[in-house]
Amino acid sequence: MAGVTLKNVVKRFGSVQVIHGASLEVEDGEFVVFVGPSGCGKSTLLRIVAGLEDASEGEIEIDGMLVNDVEPADRGIAMVFQSYALYPHMTVEQNLSFGLRMNGNPREDTNRRVQKAAEILRINELMKRRPKQLSGGQRQRVAIGRAIVREPEVFLFDEPLSNLDAELRVQMRVEIARLHSELGTTMIYVTHDQTEAMTLADKIVVLRDGKIEQVGKPLDLYDDPANQFVAGFMGSPK
Ligand code: ADP
Ligand code: MG
Repeated sequence: MAGVTLKNVVKRFGSVQVIHGASLEVEDGEFVVFVGPSGCGKSTLLRIVAGLEDASEGEIEIDGMLVNDVEPADRGIAMVFQSYALYPHMTVEQNLSFGLRMNGNPREDTNRRVQKAAEILRINELMKRRPKQLSGGQRQRVAIGRAIVREPEVFLFDEPLSNLDAELRVQMRVEIARLHSELGTTMIYVTHDQTEAMTLADKIVVLRDGKIEQVGKPLDLYDDPANQFVAGFMGSPK
């Protein structure tokens, strides 16, 4: 497990600055949710943690180590996206094991990890199916399974449920909460859904126009929003 620290992170795309000096402490084992309207920089900040984007300025630490120059694959993170891009011609089992096999991970250890992920996500019965034989929720489970088998120090989720219908979203939200309580791994989760943020987060980070507006426990933000924007987002009274 590992904490994540951002120090004065700035991101520019060409001459346009989209992250304006973000500093944040994510504790070991914490479930932190980034919220804010579309375009406020949630994905960009998450991708900077993942190493899929370089920070223009500032420092990113994972488990106390500066990782600005560390490749994504070596950061101890695994990322789950909203589009779950499974390999259509492979079975669920092959989808889960593929990355590990490509990395030359020993077969026995690969099988153990795949089995464990299947148990955690309750997809044991689906191992021989192909993606087109799965429902949307089952596919998203497999996508999360591909992150689990990597046994990351930190999970990163970018709006993983936004392609699912309302009922399934609620179901998967519960699954993700359970995943966190079972594994105890640090998780950073991006959503624009206030309910998801309120129910999943130990700590919410409210972003607006590339700036962190407020950081706090869900109820503290709700009861004591720093400004009108946070109040509006949290649905605070007054
Ligand atoms: P969010 O995930 O909160 O919707 P993003 O992080 O995707 O927001 O985007 C933040 C801002 O950065 C937006 O204005 C977006 O247009 C811009 N942006 C994101 N990625 C790129 C890119 N590769 N090139 C240029 N601008 C980008
Ligand atoms: Mg986004």
